[in-house]
Amino acid sequence: MTSMLPQALPQIRALEPYQPGKPIDELERELGIHGAIKLASNENPLGASPRACAALAGLDALTLARYPDGAATRLRAGLAARLGLAPSMITLGNGSSEVLELAVRAFAGAGDAVVCAEYAFSLYPLLAQAAGAQLRTVPARDFGHDLPAMAAACADARLVFVANPNNPTGTWVDGETLEAFLKAVPPQVVVVLDEAYREYVQQPGYVDTGSWIARFPNLIITRTFSKIYGLAGLRIGYGLSTPAMAEVLNRIRPPFNTSEAAQRAALAALDDAAFVRASQDLNATGLRVVTEGLERLGLPVLPSVGNFVSFEVGPAAEVFQQLLRAGVIVRPLANYGMPRHLRVTIGTPEENARFLEALAGVLGRA
Ligand SMILES: *Cc1c(COP(=O)(O)O)cnc(C)c1O
Repeated sequence: MTSMLPQALPQIRALEPYQPGKPIDELERELGIHGAIKLASNENPLGASPRACAALAGLDALTLARYPDGAATRLRAGLAARLGLAPSMITLGNGSSEVLELAVRAFAGAGDAVVCAEYAFSLYPLLAQAAGAQLRTVPARDFGHDLPAMAAACADARLVFVANPNNPTGTWVDGETLEAFLKAVPPQVVVVLDEAYREYVQQPGYVDTGSWIARFPNLIITRTFSKIYGLAGLRIGYGLSTPAMAEVLNRIRPPFNTSEAAQRAALAALDDAAFVRASQDLNATGLRVVTEGLERLGLPVLPSVGNFVSFEVGPAAEVFQQLLRAGVIVRPLANYGMPRHLRVTIGTPEENARFLEALAGVLGRA
């Protein structure tokens, strides 16, 4: 196979591709095993919202044959009503990843500075580098974002990423700290606030930032249906911003970027309060069980508020491989600069137990 890399743009040649979690069937085929579990991509162990599934089952052939509503009018209206915002403040994406990409493409080009935190979600550096932007990584504090240092690094930047909570560290920032950050960032710098895991956070100091948009016209908040609503496979998420900001993002948004199926499922999932509550409860219990189980194994754990937890195991690559052989897929974090850590998604009680048991076996502490 002849490499096409020499023809690619310099910033693309330098990229390290995003590493997705290993699919279950791929592992089972490789090892000739059955019943593997995947706790590698922070998916909802309960599956998708039943209301979303019902909406999908109702799709007829004619609907599938037609192009979707490119403006996603009904979903945006539903979201707006739910959030107490105007539909013109909502930009839908093929996953919230696409909204992150629209933000970078609209505001950061070759040579522009983009700021993010050490140990932040790996998509941020990838998007910035693909745009040819100059990435400025601000050292973490206790594995979390150092927001005052990040604000200071923004002086001549075009865009800054903040994940709250952050993946893979599970760290979060309270409303007061976040507000001080937004006030400190120069108004011409676009702030992308990624809230993919917001529904899992139970800390009282975690604020609903939707109402802040009027005060911070440089703010884009991203949220997703991939995590607590269990729709990662459908690819749908959204950005919240001023209508003026949304107008810019919409200029480069592909016209049919979200499917009719995804729009309908997302609208139905939005009303599925029972499913969201059940997912929150399952996660809260599982997060406690897994955290305590890891601590019992003597492993340092990064306290997490999300649906995953990262922990230190020393030779993580080796432990990862041995867990695979035991049929348990977790996520290595070497590409995050955390070669001694692994990240595990909180699963069902059975999956959590199986993971802890397998890990104890691998570490010889069974
Ligand atoms: C999972 C995740 C997302 C969501 O991605 P989608 O494209 O909406 O599926 C965004 N940000 C972070 C930090 C994530 O972990």
